Order: sequence, then structure tokens, then C-alpha cells
Amino acid sequence: MKILKIDHLGIAVNSINEGKNFWTDILGLDFAGKETVEAQKVTTAFFPVGESEVELLESTSPDGPVAKYIEKKGQGMQHIAFRVENIEESLQELKDKGVRLIDQKPRIGAGGAKIAFLHPKATGGVLVELCQRD
Ligand code: ZN
Repeated sequence: MKILKIDHLGIAVNSINEGKNFWTDILGLDFAGKETVEAQKVTTAFFPVGESEVELLESTSPDGPVAKYIEKKGQGMQHIAFRVENIEESLQELKDKGVRLIDQKPRIGAGGAKIAFLHPKATGGVLVELCQRD
């Protein structure tokens, strides 16, 4: 599998409107807009940093994965996303290596990217996302 770069860092927040000031006003990053992915019950806001992005994640519902994450661990770093050349091949390779996956097949995330999550129990406690953008 070929990892091209860190695509984004996912940070769980209670509120994008309240959380974004640190990233824009204090750090001076650009706010590149937000998008709701209803299938994942999340609104994401993007802040480009060089070739990668900081992504703030706000749950659209109390039973969404981001809300559950905050309930358990509080606000903060939630996942790291690697951009891969070919996500299907990458997932197959990980399966062949016996790595536990959350997503057996890619699904569509923000920006139309194909995404899939690895299980944190297989990665030393880090929620890892693979993503492919064409
Ligand atoms: Zn992500």
C-alpha cells in the first residue's frame, strides 16, 4: 500500500463555531468551509495547513460517533487520516495482514473522498483513517 501524505487530523469539538476561533484568530489558519455528512452524523470544518488539513468534527446528533467519542474521552484529537493511492488495495493488504478494520469497504466522506477506518485496537490506540481523493 502506498501512503502519500497525512491528509488531515480530525479533532472532535462540541461546536465548530466556538472551536474554530483558536485555529483562525489565534493560529491564523484559513477557514476553508464546512460540510455536513449526514450518513456519519457529522459536520466537518476544514483548515488547510500546507499540504494537509486540520478538520474539526461536530456531531449532528447525540448518538453520532463524534458525540460518543466526546462523551467518553472529551474534546480533542480523534483521528489521523492518511491519503493513499488506492484505498481498495490498501484495505485488502491490511486484511491479508490480519489487521482489524472498522470499515471493510470504503464509504464516502466529506469532499466526496473514499474513506475507511482501521480499528484502534489494531493500531496501538489511534483511530486511523485511510482516504483516497481522485
Ligand atoms: Zn477524517
